[in-house]
Amino acid sequence: MKIGVLALQGAVTEHIVSIEKAGAEGLPIKRVEQLAEVQGLIIPGGESTTIGKLMRKYGFIEAIRDFAGLGKPIFGTCAGMIVLAKRIAGGEPGHLELMDITVARNAFGRQRESFECDLEVKGINEPVRAVFIRAPLINETGPNVDVLTVYNDEIVTAREGNLLVSSFHPELTEDYRLHQYFADMVEASLAAKQ
Ligand code: GLN
Repeated sequence: MKIGVLALQGAVTEHIVSIEKAGAEGLPIKRVEQLAEVQGLIIPGGESTTIGKLMRKYGFIEAIRDFAGLGKPIFGTCAGMIVLAKRIAGGEPGHLELMDITVARNAFGRQRESFECDLEVKGINEPVRAVFIRAPLINETGPNVDVLTVYNDEIVTAREGNLLVSSFHPELTEDYRLHQYFADMVEASLAAKQ
């Protein structure tokens, strides 16, 4: 099973390391054609406006929408979550607009720009170590969105069908269980096709 990591900007290598710990092969995706080689895709953290711009420039918006349309799972972390959201608070235009959530960018304020904590994630037994860096959070969820983590009354992990998002960076710790969760989603999507 191969899982791609969109390699336009952001923490690519760390995601590849984590996805390989979870037992899948990781592939950096630099060109749209490479999407045909993978069964799941991770969109990493970074700067969402930059990632969005590069996605438009290289044809990834349509290509990733098609990828999702085929039922292939996508995991967006931090900026990747913003890029997947249907709506961005404050009226900024969306990017892929695939997941029925509204996100607020840089939502934790200056005092808490960057921090780490342990979080309960629905579907994972023990708390997951989470690193937040100028993180977004989810303000609103549509009816088909399953909330996986609420932290201080804020939604920071969620799933809608084959789309998974986290406000934090699961790739910056040794804890690869969220990648394992995603790899299991990819495996289930393949089994469903047979
Ligand atoms: N603040 C960034 C943005 O709004 C996201 C930060 C991150 O990915 N660590 O795009």
